[in-house]
Amino acid sequence: MDKEEDLAFTVATVWRDERVSCPHPDILRAFLSAALGEQASAFVEFHLSESQCPYCAAVLQDLKAAEEDAGREQLEDLRDRLMRSTVAELKKASGNQ
Ligand SMILES: [Zn+2]
Repeated sequence: MDKEEDLAFTVATVWRDERVSCPHPDILRAFLSAALGEQASAFVEFHLSESQCPYCAAVLQDLKAAEEDAGREQLEDLRDRLMRSTVAELKKASGNQ
């Protein structure tokens, strides 16, 4: 277990060191939300399409998945609150008989 973690850390470190031209994940996040300037997004697009960088593709996938999760959590939270308030209303109504 410890050895696997060490290995993963080493691989990640080497990977990062060799991918010096990769845009920072923050840049990729901005790219996803269309918050990047024209030049920066052109660079990211070029990097993704021309070099087909698997690292950045994975980061983008993670970011997209995280965004979808966040959206789903918000929906579930809303549903929970609706359920709770409905139950509260029903209890109040039946208690007032
Ligand atoms: Zn990259």
